[in-house]
Amino acid sequence: MSVAKGRAATAKVLSPRPAARAGRGQTLTPRPPLPATRGEGELERGARGTVLGIDLRSGPRYPTGLAALDADWRLMLLGTARTDAEIEAAVAQVRPALVAIDAPLGLPEGRCCAERACARARSGILRAVDRALIAAGYRVYPSLLPSMVGLTLRGAQLWARLDAAGVPVLEVFPGMAQDRLGLPRKQADLAGLERGLRRIGVRGLPRVRRITHDELDAVTCAVMALLHRAGATETFGPGVPAPFAAPLDTAGAAWLAAACASEV
Ligand SMILES: [Zn+2]
Repeated sequence: MSVAKGRAATAKVLSPRPAARAGRGQTLTPRPPLPATRGEGELERGARGTVLGIDLRSGPRYPTGLAALDADWRLMLLGTARTDAEIEAAVAQVRPALVAIDAPLGLPEGRCCAERACARARSGILRAVDRALIAAGYRVYPSLLPSMVGLTLRGAQLWARLDAAGVPVLEVFPGMAQDRLGLPRKQADLAGLERGLRRIGVRGLPRVRRITHDELDAVTCAVMALLHRAGATETFGPGVPAPFAAPLDTAGAAWLAAACASEV
């Protein structure tokens, strides 16, 4: 999960940049429309199983990665957003059947806020799912570690808004997913991660510009949403407010991903 660094966030609304500068991955880049084979509209596309991956950051100071994949693993949207309004605009555009988010989506059980002075702070900084992941050998940051508080609160708010809108949500950890899918993590090999995502079946990744690490993690989140819908995930923790999902296992996951991709 991302760890927030830096201090005062300066809200900045991004407007689409000129085409000449679009290569830096700062704009929302809707994919060109699909050939109209069956007259599918946006709503039907979502109903057909388009999913949205969100590599959420702690605030508008940092780029939140967004990627949408349709049910045949075709990229429908790729880009970054800063503000909650921009993220929600992408949700409205994609009408996803499932949203997979890289961020804690709730407070630790028993906590009512992130304040250290609160009487309920004795419930600690770990969620049950954090403990389950750590027990399974994955290094995740406790949700209310000081450097994680901003991300966790934003994740919980995003979950609440999506839930109120009736959008199903999944929590994922791209690094863990990449490990289990046999893909390099972004820190280790960014180009290898992009190649690996293509290899497991993601279609339509742009070749004309560099894809940022935020975007590649968002694509990984979207892949997780597709795998979850295909029944190819293992869940951890109590499942509330949202299930946490990882690919089934290291050995079978890459094969399953390829099978799911070629099936549709
Ligand atoms: Zn409290």
